[in-house]
Amino acid sequence: MRRFPGHRELLLYLKDYCEWFGLKEMIRFNTRVEYVGMLDFAKFGKDKWIIRSKDRKLNEKAREEVFDAVVVATGHYSKPRLPNIKGIYFDDMVIQVVVVVENSLSGTDISMELVDVGKEVHLSAKTLDISEGLSKVISKHHNLHFHPQVNSHSHFLFAFHKILHNHRIGTIQIDSLDEDGRVLFIDGSRITANSIIYCTGYSYTFPFLDTKGIVVVDDDRVGPLYEHTFPPSLAPSLSFVGIPRKLIGFPFFESQTKWIAQVLSGKRTLPSWDNMMQSIEEFYHSRDLADIPKHNTHDIANFEWIPPHLEDWRKDLCLAALRNAEADLETYRDSCDDHELLQVAHQSLHFTQLEPEAFAL
Ligand SMILES: Cc1cc2nc3c(=O)[nH]c(=O)nc-3n(C[C@H](O)[C@H](O)[C@H](O)COP(=O)(O)OP(=O)(O)OC[C@H]3O[C@@H](n4cnc5c(N)ncnc54)[C@H](O)[C@@H]3O)c2cc1C
Repeated sequence: MRRFPGHRELLLYLKDYCEWFGLKEMIRFNTRVEYVGMLDFAKFGKDKWIIRSKDRKLNEKAREEVFDAVVVATGHYSKPRLPNIKGIYFDDMVIQVVVVVENSLSGTDISMELVDVGKEVHLSAKTLDISEGLSKVISKHHNLHFHPQVNSHSHFLFAFHKILHNHRIGTIQIDSLDEDGRVLFIDGSRITANSIIYCTGYSYTFPFLDTKGIVVVDDDRVGPLYEHTFPPSLAPSLSFVGIPRKLIGFPFFESQTKWIAQVLSGKRTLPSWDNMMQSIEEFYHSRDLADIPKHNTHDIANFEWIPPHLEDWRKDLCLAALRNAEADLETYRDSCDDHELLQVAHQSLHFTQLEPEAFAL
């Protein structure tokens, strides 16, 4: 049984989910929210929000409505976070020589797809600290060149990797790009690339949201937010879902939405403004002490946090997938050693209402 459904299947799942729980009627599709702001703060306080939205298909003027609460769940995958490189530009030329910048999840995934079609693929990274899976892929594909940025602490490791991977490793910190596709590296070397793919992530942006400066995005820190969710001065009428990154998203975001629903319906209360602010300050302070840059404020789990309320089989399946990916990037989606775990999962009512025999492996 496959462990990794494709995007089409996930879309069907979401559609079924909406259908089953009667959510479709509550969603206004094709509607763009253009403005969210407090309705005359002096008069109504923080509990009235004015929303201007527009149907994308109909050429009508924006509709204005007033709501008691707003939950911002607009994702953070629309504003690219680009590195600061002289001459940065995009093109769509034939794939021959490709430089992929950053070796996190997307960079690694895309490089894996490209090694079979590209003449040369150069993967640039901030660190030499790569997974066993990526190391195996580099050893196997002679057109995949790995270029970490090397600092004074990692010279020994760098030399070791060079020997291990037949010298297809060099420092790559990009200095500048030329119009003709030439890439100049800090160490003075050059290659001519057809394409450069930046897998450098995204930045937070809420162009529609006007909180009069109460919630700001500063170097990718959205704040102040209590537990990455409620801005103390505007809580509970304003909240955010989905801000944290680098974690197993869906269960975390589901917990956030349940918490918000409980607070808005009066079933739970938030701590006082002072206590929320203190908690935020303590969190920022702990990150500073750990030398974590401000732009990583919401990278809170490095994919290791799993909600405590999750059934053991879910956690174990998830961890098994992460371990497999770490060990072998080329096979982890198709070959797994978690069949016993899956049998346990099949017996859970949460997973299926069918009998386990229906899923014989
Ligand atoms: C390349 C990539 C691969 C990923 N792979 C995985 C994976 O394998 N597994 C996993 O669990 N997660 C994965 N993720 C993360 C996952 O996609 C997110 O965690 C998830 O989509 C977050 O859901 P969301 O609803 O918060 O935001 P989104 O899915 O981004 O949804 C936000 C929605 O809000 C809409 N919107 C934005 N602004 C407005 C506006 N002004 N008015 C109206 N609508 C607006 C957007 O159009 C969008 O439809 C991946 C992400 C990326 C980028």
